[in-house]
Amino acid sequence: MPELPDVHAFADYLESTALHKPIAHTHVDEAVLKHGTTVQAVAGAATGNAMEETRTHGKFLFARVEKKWLVFHFGMTGHFGYARTPQDPEHTHADFELENGFHFSYIAPRKLGFVDLTDDVDAYVNEKKLGEDALRVSADRFVELMQNRRGGVKSALMDQSLIAGVGNVYADEILFQAGIHPKSQVKSIDKDTLRTLHGVTQRVLKEAADRQADPSQFPTSWLIPHRQEGAACPKCTGKVQRIEVNGRGTFVCHICQNKIS
Ligand SMILES: [Zn+2]
Repeated sequence: MPELPDVHAFADYLESTALHKPIAHTHVDEAVLKHGTTVQAVAGAATGNAMEETRTHGKFLFARVEKKWLVFHFGMTGHFGYARTPQDPEHTHADFELENGFHFSYIAPRKLGFVDLTDDVDAYVNEKKLGEDALRVSADRFVELMQNRRGGVKSALMDQSLIAGVGNVYADEILFQAGIHPKSQVKSIDKDTLRTLHGVTQRVLKEAADRQADPSQFPTSWLIPHRQEGAACPKCTGKVQRIEVNGRGTFVCHICQNKIS
């Protein structure tokens, strides 16, 4: 599922392909529109204009067309394509045909993501009750948000209304690198450790985004390339284990992640 680093990679992809290129035709499936936004509204905003800049907030990507912003959320499997003919027509749910003959496509094999339109990105973020972006939240605010939260630390990291951008895979990576067990209760983690967790969160997300969220480019000391039951832990002589945390498959090394349990 696309998380913050993936969404940064999608923004880079959009900027290196479709940015500033006039849109000749817009086709969007009603099925991927949300919140009463119509096919006509999206086509009206996009056609004749170009995507001029991008913004991201957590797992959301915004692309400005004239005075409005297209909103993209990628669900479980969403991504973009750019080609002379749509690469995956069956799963292309929004297609921006550019004047240069290329198609910039929003492709989502499982329709769990959506496309939307807004006049104001900040208002949209507030309306959706999204927390601060995980790469922009300050250490003090991160500690404060966590300290006011009950329950397990992995769930807290993944709560988009608290901090936006971290999902299942990167939550595991962050907790692995911080040496914290994913089932630890937030209230049992001291302030200094929460500060460390903030630093690790931002370092992991930034490094992953810098590597285009491509796991084959990640350091071998990371957990992500070893997300398999019984895999050798990249940091110790132990093994990676798969457990469930709030119904989500979670990978953990019980030796490295012993800080609190
Ligand atoms: Zn280990």
